[in-house]
Amino acid sequence: MSKIVSLCKRRGFVFQSSEIYGGLQSCYDYGPLGVELKRNVKDAWWRYMVHSRENVVGIDASILMHPRVWEASGHVAGFNDPLVDCKSCKGRFRQDKLSSDRCPDCGGELTEARQFNLMFKTHAGPVEDDAAIVYMRPETAQAMFVDFALVQGAGRLKIPFGIAQQGKSFRNEIVVEHFTFRSREFEQMEMEFFVEPGTDEEWYTYWCDERFDWYKDLGVAEERLRMRPHEQEELAHYAKACTDVEYQYPWGWDELEGIANRTDYDLKKHAEYSGKRLDYFDPQTNKRYVPYVIEPAAGVDRSALMFLIDAYCEEPAPEGKKEGRVVLRLDPRLAPTKVAVLPLVRKDGMPEIARDIVKQFWDNSINAFYDEKDAVGRRYRRQDEVGTPYCLTVDGQTKEDGTVTIRYRDSMKQDRIKIDEALEIVRKRLATGGQVSE
Ligand code: ATP
Repeated sequence: MSKIVSLCKRRGFVFQSSEIYGGLQSCYDYGPLGVELKRNVKDAWWRYMVHSRENVVGIDASILMHPRVWEASGHVAGFNDPLVDCKSCKGRFRQDKLSSDRCPDCGGELTEARQFNLMFKTHAGPVEDDAAIVYMRPETAQAMFVDFALVQGAGRLKIPFGIAQQGKSFRNEIVVEHFTFRSREFEQMEMEFFVEPGTDEEWYTYWCDERFDWYKDLGVAEERLRMRPHEQEELAHYAKACTDVEYQYPWGWDELEGIANRTDYDLKKHAEYSGKRLDYFDPQTNKRYVPYVIEPAAGVDRSALMFLIDAYCEEPAPEGKKEGRVVLRLDPRLAPTKVAVLPLVRKDGMPEIARDIVKQFWDNSINAFYDEKDAVGRRYRRQDEVGTPYCLTVDGQTKEDGTVTIRYRDSMKQDRIKIDEALEIVRKRLATGGQVSE
């Protein structure tokens, strides 16, 4: 894990927030490569969940919502974690994550648990009275329930259908841990899928399978992924069933995403609190009912971190070579830079040709990177370390016949190809994903 954290800082994936002031604990800034990775994760999710289905649409709701939303959802009264303090070392823990009733750090005695609400409060408008209190949303899901009737009506959507959203959420977590895995400000990717009661168990299984496949399709090693159904006593009060997609992180198996059968709990609560109708009329059967909801809820930061961990690879030096290499074997769709274009030397028109190639990629909406510093071998290593799947090297021959050397990240194999072919190779891989070998 410390290698990942150090790579993230050194190469500009993730920094501590406000670092020059000593940092703000559990808040992170994504640097130039991190922001690309994160966008690619979100785009891959959006393509899979929204843009390849007739019956899923997106929204982008505001972070601040009417305070009654959080009363109806149960967050004001019940979004609590049980907090315990160690009487000796003053360490602070979530009681539900402890395996014994003693302090895990020093073995000391713990205080009684206190309930601690995780929502961040702030004030809307200039008057800091109770009436002006608003909350920073602790999940993106509630907007999909609150906007259910508006979205359904606007799109004349027929059940089953889903509403998806990506965006920031905030939780005043008691214990923040494992780098970006658990932070106080983070991004979620959630989808609420509305179904007819009675068909919910089928759809729940369907979405569990779909979500597992998403990670697999993006190249995550299957042996490091598993589905863990929740025990009855672990279930949230609104859930009929829940399964976590778990990954084997360096600290052990832990949550990546949760898929829950939330029943009709949320729509009924919001109908009760708002006095508005939140149900569905089926014109075919002439039946009116409150839909059940299946919710796959994933974290952007947690996924991005997992993709980095899973892709990280240290390769020993090959026979006869002095240096090994660090390589991020990211799926090309997730790689921050898709192709690096490198003039062999900084003269004889090579930089101009290389820049022209970079522009051709940009014109095709493919993120390309120009690098002319240091020997070409070092430039390849730098790109390996940040997961760039392809390097194109421009040399003396390029001017003669329009060919370049393409070097594949995973196999390190090199071929001589036409510039147009390079564009096609990269385009094809970005459409289908998969290995970066030829
Ligand atoms: P935990 O039990 O770990 O506190 P949770 O089960 O409360 O998490 P959910 O409410 O199901 O989490 O949130 C859905 C997803 O949002 C999680 O699977 C995770 O990917 C992400 N997520 C939740 N809390 C955080 C956080 N503090 N930091 C980063 N990601 C988070």
